[in-house]
Amino acid sequence: MKIALVKTPSVAKKMFPNYTWDIETNRKEIFLTFDDGPTPEITDWTLNTLKDFNAKATFFCIGENILKYPDIFQNILNEGHAIGNHTQHHLKGWRTTTKDYIQDVEATQMIINKRHKNHPIQCKLFRPPYGRIKPKQAKQLMALGFQIVMWDVLSFDWNQAISEKTCLENVISKSKEGSIVVFHDSIKAKKNMAYALPKVLEHFTSKGFEFKTLQSSMA
Ligand SMILES: [Zn+2]
Repeated sequence: MKIALVKTPSVAKKMFPNYTWDIETNRKEIFLTFDDGPTPEITDWTLNTLKDFNAKATFFCIGENILKYPDIFQNILNEGHAIGNHTQHHLKGWRTTTKDYIQDVEATQMIINKRHKNHPIQCKLFRPPYGRIKPKQAKQLMALGFQIVMWDVLSFDWNQAISEKTCLENVISKSKEGSIVVFHDSIKAKKNMAYALPKVLEHFTSKGFEFKTLQSSMA
């Protein structure tokens, strides 16, 4: 089965109720997330754009990218955003043994924790690459204190086959109070994300929404 939808159907959310799909709130707040960084230029551009709108977000970083670009990672922390774990090598859970998967996630968490000294971690957030994780892997990670964070809205920013406008429309038409929205601060997603992000921030800010980190919702 290989179906990806812009809006996660409620049946999927009900099948895996232990995963975080959205945040229950009546307040006008949206939870932007950025996967696959840190990436030179793109992550810093993203940070500046968020700052223009006083928006906070959660960055699900790849461990090996943190090691390659520690200064960019530090910039994310300094701007007050939250950090999530996205494995060290962007593993496909369905194709990885549970043992290897857990080790890769834990290695990444050590990398994150080491750099997190002045910003204590309130909860360990984990997003499986491709959204694919075996129930056994998820169960073990949750036993280790990880919160598995999926999403409510996928921007499809990485998909070169869709236009910038479609990417924007995906997010604007489907996001609402409590939505967790997926973007990528990656080279592949740059074209669509760089177009859509400022317009998403503008659109929802003008409607009175605020953009918050996932940790703020769980603290
Ligand atoms: Zn990813």
